[in-house]
Amino acid sequence: MKKVVIASNNAGKLREIQEILAPLEIEAMPQGAFGVPECPEPHVTFIENCLAKARHASAHTGLPALADDSGICVDALNGAPGVYSARFAGEPKSDERNNQKLIATLQGESNRKAHYYCVMVYVRYPDDPQPIIAEGSWHGEIIDTPRGAGGFGYDPYFLLPAFGRTGAELSAVEKNGISHRGQALRMLVERLTGA
Ligand code: IMP
Repeated sequence: MKKVVIASNNAGKLREIQEILAPLEIEAMPQGAFGVPECPEPHVTFIENCLAKARHASAHTGLPALADDSGICVDALNGAPGVYSARFAGEPKSDERNNQKLIATLQGESNRKAHYYCVMVYVRYPDDPQPIIAEGSWHGEIIDTPRGAGGFGYDPYFLLPAFGRTGAELSAVEKNGISHRGQALRMLVERLTGA
């Protein structure tokens, strides 16, 4: 098994990544296991922050590293909250306050289009000149009244017009099949295997 460090300490994400990489003979290990310190994320784009996290984890461990970054981008807000999605309403981070702020900001706005975005970056070494990049986008609309108890974050307010359901009304399997993260993970596997 080839060891790869995952630049995240989120248990849910780690499990998802471990499951998808195991068949590729890749052992995905959390950066916490190596005592990697938090990486600054000063950039305004997902890809720049993601690349910074992957390089940072690889530099601290001497191993190949995989990082991910994701968020929601609202058309009428020029892509905000974007890279600030987790902390849109400030510290401490709170899904509930983030959602309240989003709905308040969109009051009176008729353009409700939004999409989730996820990017994943794999570097073989910190200064890898050719990182492997995978991404996914998931399009929907922001509604004012929450629906559903599944998912997390902005999901109860993220309506998928084609399904007539919000992200929080999908099962985990349904969500993985179409979500930004599911798309990015599948693209990552294709790119890692050269498929
Ligand atoms: P991170 O990639 O874990 O930093 O996530 C960034 C933030 O984007 C999360 O805290 C959520 O607010 C939002 N987000 C990313 N993906 C999703 C999703 O699938 N559903 C709901 N919110 C999401």
